[in-house]
Amino acid sequence: MEDCIFCRIAAGDIPAQVVYQDDDVVAFRDTNPQAPVHVLVIPREHVPGPLALGDDYAALAGKLVAAAAQVARQEDIADTGYRLVMNEGRQAQQSVFHVHLHVLGGRAMHWPPG
Ligand code: 5GP
Ligand code: ZN
Repeated sequence: MEDCIFCRIAAGDIPAQVVYQDDDVVAFRDTNPQAPVHVLVIPREHVPGPLALGDDYAALAGKLVAAAAQVARQEDIADTGYRLVMNEGRQAQQSVFHVHLHVLGGRAMHWPPG
């Protein structure tokens, strides 16, 4: 989708600090980081959000999580731990409607989340 900012990042049309990519996914640093490590993992394919990740996308959903693990190892937060967040819709405050997995780490997290 040409009007989707994350499609444009995946295509390389908008610059981003890419930390990992392969044929299916791209991972890049969030411009408004909420932790010392804050990386977004997205599929190259436009999928609007986690609600749309049905059975047809089970393999792709797994790849997002696997890429997040790879990012965690690269960013040296695998041992201390990290949090994965995927927001869907208004009450979860999803703001970009191209599905993305937040990888947050480098500090102690709180629970319950805000
Ligand atoms: P959401 O609230 O939809 O779960 O998360 C969207 C995230 O995308 C936010 O954390 C926001 O800071 C990040 N973001 C929005 N626009 C851009 C952008 O152009 N580049 C990067 N790297 N991150 C972005
Ligand atoms: Zn998109």
